[in-house]
Parts: sequence; structure tokens; C-alpha cells
Amino acid sequence: MRQLSTDVLIVGAGGAGLYAAIEAARRGAKVLLLDRSLIGRGGATIMAQMTVAAAVGPEGTDHWQNHLNDTLAAGRGLCDPDLARLLCEDGVEVIREMDRWRVGWARDGAQFAVVQAPGHDRPRCVYVDFLSTGPAVSKTLRAVAQRTPGITRLGDALVTDLITTNGAVTGAVALHVESGQALSIAANATIIATGGLTSLYRRNSASANMTGDGYALALRAGADLIDMEFVQFFPIGHLAPRLIGMDPIMWDPFRYKLGGRLLNGLGEEFVERYGSTDSGRYVVTRDLATYAITKEAAAGRGSPNGGAWLSFRHIPPAQLRTAFGPVIDRLAANGIDLARDDVEVSPIAHYHMGGIRVDKHMATSVAGLYAAGEAVGGANGANRLSGNAITEALAFGRAAGRSAAEQSTGPGLDADAARAAAQLIVAEGVPCNTAALFVRLQAVMSDHAGPFRTSSGLAAALNEVHALLAEAGPVPPGKPRPHDLARTDWFVLRQALLVAQCVILAAAARTESRGAHQREDYPHLDNDWTRNHILRLTAGGLHLSSIPVPVVP
Ligand SMILES: Cc1cc2nc3c(=O)[nH]c(=O)nc-3n(C[C@H](O)[C@H](O)[C@H](O)COP(=O)(O)OP(=O)(O)OC[C@H]3O[C@@H](n4cnc5c(N)ncnc54)[C@H](O)[C@@H]3O)c2cc1C
Repeated sequence: MRQLSTDVLIVGAGGAGLYAAIEAARRGAKVLLLDRSLIGRGGATIMAQMTVAAAVGPEGTDHWQNHLNDTLAAGRGLCDPDLARLLCEDGVEVIREMDRWRVGWARDGAQFAVVQAPGHDRPRCVYVDFLSTGPAVSKTLRAVAQRTPGITRLGDALVTDLITTNGAVTGAVALHVESGQALSIAANATIIATGGLTSLYRRNSASANMTGDGYALALRAGADLIDMEFVQFFPIGHLAPRLIGMDPIMWDPFRYKLGGRLLNGLGEEFVERYGSTDSGRYVVTRDLATYAITKEAAAGRGSPNGGAWLSFRHIPPAQLRTAFGPVIDRLAANGIDLARDDVEVSPIAHYHMGGIRVDKHMATSVAGLYAAGEAVGGANGANRLSGNAITEALAFGRAAGRSAAEQSTGPGLDADAARAAAQLIVAEGVPCNTAALFVRLQAVMSDHAGPFRTSSGLAAALNEVHALLAEAGPVPPGKPRPHDLARTDWFVLRQALLVAQCVILAAAARTESRGAHQREDYPHLDNDWTRNHILRLTAGGLHLSSIPVPVVP
């Protein structure tokens, strides 16, 4: 087994992991930044095309407190106020620092160009034109990380277990995909920055490596998870006609720039039937739009493929060309002329509000273990505002990097525990179609733990997850070999099945509807449920409890 050691180990090199690496290294720590994919090119950050929210508009027009008020309101009473404040207050500084690093935020004269996104009370979202926000953020952070002394980068390494010594996390064990062998890393501090879990759903906006690994790693190491039931579905994911080479969630900025109309199969605007005030502009929040589109389709008034129509036909063609810029030509290559054609859209799994429970220093309840980015739960409560996720990744990454750099030397890696975890990586098992099992998991999560849930559906989902666990077996299939995807998928499935149970258990226990969690059998918000769910893995299995939401100071 190859053995490495570092001051700070960062698992996941998206926006959060890269910012954490830069911050820890510039505070003097030796950093190992590790990713199962290529550094800075896997996960969600590089895929994000739209906007980043922070109160950086022209002088005197906004304040982070306004952003915080909107974030708390969107979170439907469940936000952790310290984390939400950190996101909004520190968000301003990280967006400005990214600007100094030449990310290329669009400008309006000398000021940042800011647009208004749903749920924000004023224009507050910066972007890099056209649809280049995530790639520009990733490229900038990759460049800064590359020139910052003290950061070692390692791709193709899938962390399978964290190692604890006397109750503290002291490093990790990883499957080195290129060789098929195990790798152990001793670290004083470890930061989980592995992003979200939306690949657990059939229709998702995710890259294949967003399978919730970090939640399972933290849980198995003794950390708490919070509010795992809150999966955000993006309401207007592209559904039809076929769109090649373009992001399925690209419609969002154009809808709120231009006021695209959402129509049902009968050509009627319908969002207002569901208690919102869309009225031709894109002001309805994501949870309400998801609800409205799904309900309309269920009532038999959907578009031909079971979603809704998105129409820009009322906008003059010249205005469409100005707003869409080069995107209009890419749409034309797909046979779509927005002056003539409507497109079909429907909800798609997009972001996870729940995750690892941390304090405002990004510390978990386990010594030596920190988390950052989408892997963290609680900042966005029951529903996330548009643009808050990249800000969260950057601000939380910076905070985690700072805390981890200050971590004093730990008890050292427990060699026996590391060897035991490594044994699983090189164990030989019977053949098993792990990819097919993963597809079954996506199906059951979509059908029963998706935007709408019922107690019987969630019970059926839990049974299927237990069946999948039995079929996956206790060891990976075959022998260790370089680039063996069936074995890699087995480790991913092992974590995903644990994470799926967390989502299902928390969703079944929350007998109300709130934000992204909608129960058909409990359709109303219940004030007694203004509580956070906490999940812990004990010797007896998963243990779920609920606590009152911390009071907003
Ligand atoms: C298509 C799309 C568009 C989006 N658009 C926007 C937007 O416009 N504005 C906005 O604010 N938000 C947007 N979001 C959400 C936002 O991009 C993410 O929440 C944010 O980028 C998450 O950053 P992160 O660093 O926490 O995780 P990620 O960027 O997802 O990075 C996680 C990394 O962890 C690695 N990893 C995972 N498991 C392991 C493991 N076991 N071992 C080693 N490495 C591992 C992955 O390979 C990946 O590189 C969008 C998301 C998607 C999918």
C-alpha cells in the first residue's frame, strides 16, 4: 500500500476543495488535494453556467444582511443562521477575491453587472458571460492553486474510508483507480469537499461523480448529518426535443432575463394556480415551480413528454438574439428556433440542501474532520436560493481551509485501521453488475424519494435499498485491476446505498411539506416541524433525531 502524509487532506477538488487548498496553503500548511476525477474538472462547479449570489452590487444598493434575509426566507425556517450568515457575509469577500484573481465577472462600466434571480429582493447575482461562470471559476481556482506553494494534487483517487484514531479523524484510505491498489494518507486535518448526491436520481443535472460519497464517509467516521431529506429539484430542466452539447439547466438565466412563459399542455399559464405570483416573469422559487409543473402533468395537462412548455415566442427575434448571444446558434444546430418553437421542461434533481453538520468554523463533531461546499448541510434550510451554491462552495471552502490549517498535530494514523480499510480495496469478490444496481437505485429514489413522497412509497424505497445492499454483497466484484470500473462502481454504490437510506429515513419521519420536501400524505407545513433532523451511525444502525432550529440572533 502506497503511504502518503500531509498536514491537511482535502477530499474533492471542486470550488470548495480548491478554495480550501489555497487558503490552507497560504496559511503555511502542507496540503494534499485529492479527487476521484481530474483536479478541478470533476463535480458540479465546472458545470455551473449561470450566476453567483453576493451583495456586491453598486455601492449603497445592497448589503449582505439583505442577502441573508432572502436566504433565511427561502430556507423556510430551517437555515442554520450562523452558516447562512457566513455564506452571505463572507460571500462578498470571496467574490471580490475571485475578481482580483481575474475570474472575469461581467461588468457594467466600473461595477459588477448584477442580475436578479428568483427569491432575491434585488439584482445580486454576478456571472461570467455567456454561460461560462462555472468553467471560469474552476479555471481561476486551478490556476491560483497551481501557483500556490505547498499544494500537492492527486487525481484518480477515490477515498473509500476515513481513518479514526481515538475518535479523531487522522487520515483516509483511497482506491487509486489507475492502478486498482490502495493508498493511505495520514493527515492532521481532513476536509470533505465532495459535493452533493443528485446522481442518486434518474433525471439529474449532475456529473457522474456526484454520488454523495462525502456524506457516507463522514457518517462512517462518526460525524452527524443534517436535514438529509431536502433534495432540490430544478424545475425547468430541459426535457425535449433532444439537446446535444448543452447543459439541461441552461434555460434558467434566459427565463429570468426575458420572462419566458411556462405553459401547460393546453397552452395556459398555470403557476398562479399553485399559490405563487409568477405572472410572466421568473419570480417563482424552485420548490413552488417544481410542484406546479409536476401537479399539472399529473392532472393530465402536461406537455407531450410529461413536463411543461417553456415559451419565448412572445419575445421579438432581435431581442432573443441579443439576450441569447451565441447560444441562439447552438440551439439552431439542435433544430430549435425560439421565435418559432417552445421547448419542453420538467424538474430535474439539482442540489442537496442537507449534508454534513458543521459549526461556523466548518468543524464537524469529530476532531480533525471538516467539511465545505455542497457537502455541508444547513445553510440553505429547506430550499436554496439561485446563485447561493457557488458562493457557499467558495466561502465555506475558505473557512474550512483556515480552520484545518490551524489544526494542531493529531494522534497519527492508526496503521491497523488503515490496513483494514485497505483490505476491502484489494479484496476479491464474486461478479456483480454494479452499474445495473445503481440504475435500480436511481429509479427507486426518483419514484419514491423524489419531489413528492408518501409514507408507503418511502417504505417501498427502503425495502428496495435493503435488497440492493444484499445483492451488492460485502466485497467488490473480481480482483484488483487497473481502471476496473465495476470495482470502482461498487465502492460508489456502497456509499450511495447508505446515503439513500439517510434521505429516505429523514423524508419518512418529516410528516409535513416544506420547501423541497413535499409529502402527498402531509401536504401542509407544520410549525411543530420547525426542527432540524440529525442522523448518526451507531452500532445499532442509523439513528435519527430532531432538534429545534438555532435561533436567528
Ligand atoms: C449543471 C449545474 C449547474 C449549476 N449552476 C449553478 C449556478 O449557476 N450557480 C450556483 O450557485 N450553483 C450552481 N450549481 C450548484 C453548484 O455548482 C454546486 O453546488 C457547487 O459547485 C458545489 O461545489 P463543491 O466544491 O462543493 O462540489 P463539486 O464542485 O461537485 O466538487 C466535488 C468534487 O469531489 C470529488 N469527489 C466526490 N467523491 C469523492 C471521493 N470519494 N474521493 C475523491 N473525490 C471525490 C468529485 O470528483 C468532485 O470533483 C449548479 C450545479 C450543476 C450540477
